[in-house]
Amino acid sequence: MKQDQAIRPRDKGDVPEDPLSRMRHSASHVLADAVKRLRPNAKVAIGPSIENGFYYDFDTEPFAPEDIERIEAEMRKIIAENLPFARHVVPRHEALERFRSRGELYKVEIIESIPEGEEVSYFQHGDFIDLCRGPHVERTGDIKAVKVLSFAGAYWRGDERNQQLQRVYGTAFPSKAELDAYLAQIEEAKRRDHRTLGKQLDLFSFDDLVGPGFALWHPKGAFVPTRSRTSSVARTSGAGMTSSTRRTSRASSCSKPPATSRTTRTTSSAGWSWTVSAISSNR
Ligand SMILES: [Zn+2]
Repeated sequence: MKQDQAIRPRDKGDVPEDPLSRMRHSASHVLADAVKRLRPNAKVAIGPSIENGFYYDFDTEPFAPEDIERIEAEMRKIIAENLPFARHVVPRHEALERFRSRGELYKVEIIESIPEGEEVSYFQHGDFIDLCRGPHVERTGDIKAVKVLSFAGAYWRGDERNQQLQRVYGTAFPSKAELDAYLAQIEEAKRRDHRTLGKQLDLFSFDDLVGPGFALWHPKGAFVPTRSRTSSVARTSGAGMTSSTRRTSRASSCSKPPATSRTTRTTSSAGWSWTVSAISSNR
């Protein structure tokens, strides 16, 4: 068997070949190493690169906000150590033994899903090993700028009947300037988030009991749907009518309900009124 054919993925698929994804996936190894250095009893699960960054899942106690700085500091140490990523290809039983002796039960479960007699690849930098197909950057020092972004809960293999894991999201960029620009972009997006602005400006809010994504218009914001509807009618009337509007007009001329109907009701709570608007499509 060719060596490349023997390499097994450690999770859902291959690491994308583009340099940025490769660096971010390599950063996920560094993240896992950092968490293991801080919490030797943590068990590692999987750590792929994703759009705009990467994550790694751990079986460990939940993280606290102050862990972000601690993990980042440890990651920066590992990057400064400039450790090479070394690839090992071993028989399946050897890989099983290696990860079992380290107590990495999630990796053991993945290896057990590989047919007996096949070879398995893993990557090592320093003392940290990870079942993985690669590719990676050459050395940890090739990862230039990293940031731990957030924590979240996740289930092993995405199944809520399985063990709940702690997911750490992070990102990496080829330079600090690019990382800073990305972080500024995230902050700006948060600042402009309509859910934040709606609350801050007392225009609307959301309530899970009513339905996620269903705007509860406050008195100050209630003119917005009306203005929006008026503008829409003005834009689509006359010569500039769009094909979808023409469809609606034909439906109305046949005395059928229009393709789009609007329901509005007003309710009051805690001494003030909410106007609840919904647009339902009958298409
Ligand atoms: Zn890897």
